[in-house]
Formats: sequence, structure tokens, C-alpha cells
Amino acid sequence: MGPGPMSGPAMPSPAPDPGPLLTPADAARAFSDVVARVEPVAEQLCLQRTRNVPCDFQIVVDGRPGQQANAYQTLDPQGRPVVALTLALLDDARNADELAFVLGHETSHHILGHIPRQQESAMTGAMLAGVLAQMGGAAPETIRSVQQMGASMGARTFSKDFELEADALGTEITLLSGYDPVRGAAFFTRLPDPGDTFLGSHPPNGQRIAIVQRRAAELGYY
Ligand SMILES: [Zn+2]
Repeated sequence: MGPGPMSGPAMPSPAPDPGPLLTPADAARAFSDVVARVEPVAEQLCLQRTRNVPCDFQIVVDGRPGQQANAYQTLDPQGRPVVALTLALLDDARNADELAFVLGHETSHHILGHIPRQQESAMTGAMLAGVLAQMGGAAPETIRSVQQMGASMGARTFSKDFELEADALGTEITLLSGYDPVRGAAFFTRLPDPGDTFLGSHPPNGQRIAIVQRRAAELGYY
């Protein structure tokens, strides 16, 4: 653990930092430690801040071959929240703080209701695109394809904001779990920056790190 940065108000029992995660076995061990700490914190925040939403997170490793480093949040057929991390992401993580921040971020998407909100915004985008196409006298096939494009644009436009919201709440979850979110968010510095393009669904990495630093400072750290 680096000196200095976590010398704010007392953190809830600092987590042991295993240092660089050099082998898959080390990564797997660190991951189960992180899950054991972050999952109950995320569940508690979910119960406090949502109504009639399942909060029993299932945190899983997506072991399908050939997948890139990635993490995502989804729902199982019963509507229970699932957070999945790929093996490549576990391999790429350099310390437990990074894994904790990824989990904090993904569980935040669920607590913030991003999947239902994304579906609503995708629907609005699809309807709007359909209306515009009809006004222009487009053929039915054109309308269908514009609707599909509208759906994906609606979702993407919102998901950039959702990413930043999940980074902010993920910062809180990471801190409450005893990990360092600023150190964890350094993960972004090793990922390709998506840039600030119109259709880019992810905010620039620098913007995300700034949100994490600001939120950690608001919570009394750094
Ligand atoms: Zn996200």
C-alpha cells in the first residue's frame, strides 16, 4: 500500500494489499478476498437506497474463452443482479484496489437502476427515430433500421452519464469496503482511452479519474 493518500479520516479496517497480482492463482485469491469485502457493502447500500429491488448480488467470473478484459452488470431470469468479470480482467488487475473499484462500479449500476433506466431511454430514442423517419416518408424497412439505430443511440447517450454516476457511487462502495478507489481507478490509465467522440459510450478516462478523486475528497479522503 502506498504511503500517504489514505491518511484522511479512519477507514473501515484497511484491506490487506497483496501487491501486484502476478499469477492467475494470486488474482483468484485476491478476487475472493475482494468479493468477501465488497459484496456485503454493496448489498447494504442497495437495501438502503432502493425499494423493491433484489439486492443479493451474484458475483461471477465469466470464463468463456477469448473474452477481452471486461466487467459488466446484468440480471438473471429472476431479476437478481449479476456482476461478471472476465478472466482477462482478473489477469490485468495489478492490485486488490483495482478489483474492488471494478466491483464497486458494477454493483453501482444496479443500485442506481441503470438497466431499467437505459431500457426506457432506448425506447424513447427508438420512438423518436421512428416518428422522424415517418415524417420523412421513409419506407417501412428504413423505419425499422432507423428505430434500431435510435435505440442504440438513446442507450449510448445515457450510458456515458451512467458510467460517471457508477464511478461516483463505486468510489463510495470501494471506500466503505476498505479499499482505495483512487488507486483502483488507476486501472483506467492502462486501458485505451475511448476519447470524447459523439457515439462513444464511455467517458474519457481522465474525466472518470477526476470524478473518483472528487467523490473521495467529498467523502473526506484525499
Ligand atoms: Zn460501467
